[in-house]
Amino acid sequence: MSDLTDLYQEVILDHNKSPRNYREPDSFNRDAIGHNPLCGDRIRLYLQIEEGRIADVAFQGSGCAISQASASLMTEALKGITVEEFEKLFGRFHSLVTGKIVEGSQQDLGKLVVFSGVSQYPVRVKCATLPW
Ligand code: ZN
Repeated sequence: MSDLTDLYQEVILDHNKSPRNYREPDSFNRDAIGHNPLCGDRIRLYLQIEEGRIADVAFQGSGCAISQASASLMTEALKGITVEEFEKLFGRFHSLVTGKIVEGSQQDLGKLVVFSGVSQYPVRVKCATLPW
C-alpha cells in the first residue's frame, strides 16, 4: 500500500508543478472564482459549454499542492463530457475524498484516485473539492 501512496503522491506533485490546462482561454462562456480561506487556495475556472457538453475547460490559481493538482486533474477529466456526467463524477469524487468509496470500486474515477488519501485529512477535503 505504501508504494501506491508514493505513486499517488508523485502524480499530485507532478500536476502541482506542471498543471495541465493552466491558462485563460480566448473564449469561454462560464467562469467561477473559488477561495478556500482555511488554506489560502484560490482558483479561477473557465468553461466553454456547448450543447450541454464541456467543450473546453481551463483554470488559473494559486495555493497548496492538493488544490492545484485537483484543478489540473479535474480539467483533464472534464474535457468532452456532458454537464450531467460532470455532476455524477463530482458526486463520486466527493465520496472518494470523504472516504465513502471502498477500495476496489474506484475504477470509474481513473486518475482521480490519487486523491483517495485526502479522506484521512479532513482539513484537506476543501482543498481537493474547491476547483469542482
Ligand atoms: Zn489547500
